[in-house]
Amino acid sequence: PLPHARGALRFDDVTFGYGEGRTILPSFDLDIPAGQTVALVGTTGAGKSTLAKLLSRFYDPSDGRVTLDGVDLRDLDGRDLRRAIVMVTQEAYLFSGTVADNIALGKPDATIEEIRAAAEAVGADAFIRSLPDGYDTDVNKRGGRVSAGQRQLVSFARAFLADPAVLILDEATASLDIPSERMIQEALQTLLADRTAIIIAHRLSTVAIADRVLVMEHGRIVEDGSPAEL
Ligand code: ATP
Ligand code: MG
Repeated sequence: PLPHARGALRFDDVTFGYGEGRTILPSFDLDIPAGQTVALVGTTGAGKSTLAKLLSRFYDPSDGRVTLDGVDLRDLDGRDLRRAIVMVTQEAYLFSGTVADNIALGKPDATIEEIRAAAEAVGADAFIRSLPDGYDTDVNKRGGRVSAGQRQLVSFARAFLADPAVLILDEATASLDIPSERMIQEALQTLLADRTAIIIAHRLSTVAIADRVLVMEHGRIVEDGSPAEL
C-alpha cells in the first residue's frame, strides 16, 4: 500500500503503558477513515499525546495493533512510515540553517520553487520575504525576529511540502496574537485538505473545522461526534 498511503488508521484492541507503570490505554479501539479531520480533546493526562506517540512509533503497543491502511505499523519500513505519518508538535522547532532548509526538511530534494509554493499555500511567504535575506535567512542569526506564530507557519510549510497521508498536530496551548491566530486557522484548513488529520486541539476554532470530535478521558473515548453535536 505504501508509499502511496491512503491514510486509514485503526487502533485495534491496543493496550499500552509506559514501562512497568499503570496502563494508560486499556483495550483501546478507534477507527479513522482516510481523509477524516479529527479533533482530539480531553483533560490533561487523558492519553492524547500517547496516541500520537503510538502512531509515530515512538512507542509500540504492549498488546493489540495500530494499522495504517490495514497494515501493522510494525510491518512498515521506517522510512515509509515517516513519509506517510508526520507529526507537528506543540513546539515548532527551527533547526540551524536557512528558512528554506527548514521547510525542505521533510523533502531534502525539493526545489526552491516547491519550497516557495509550500510557504505560499500556508500563508508564510509574505513574512519570509520580509526577512533580511528572504528564504536564505539564517534562522540562528535572525531567530529572534521569528515569532512563535511565524515558527508555526514554517513548520506548517514543512508539513505541506512533505505531503503525508496522515498529519498529526499537537496544537500549541500558548495563545498567539490575533493576526497570527487567524493566519494559523487559514493555514490549517489548507494543510488538512486531502489527508487524514488528527489535531490535539486546544482552540474552539480548531474543533469547529473538524469532521469529528473525540473526547478522551483516562485512556478512553467518552464522546464521539460532529462538532455540532458536542
Ligand atoms: P496533555 O493535555 O496534558 O498534553 P495528554 O492527554 O496528552 O495530556 P499524555 O501525555 O498522553 O496525556 O499522558 C497520559 C498519561 O501518561 C499521563 O498520566 C502521563 O503522566 C503519562 N505519561 C506520559 N508520558 C510518559 C512517559 N514518558 N513516561 C511515563 N508516563 C508518561
Ligand atoms: Mg499532550
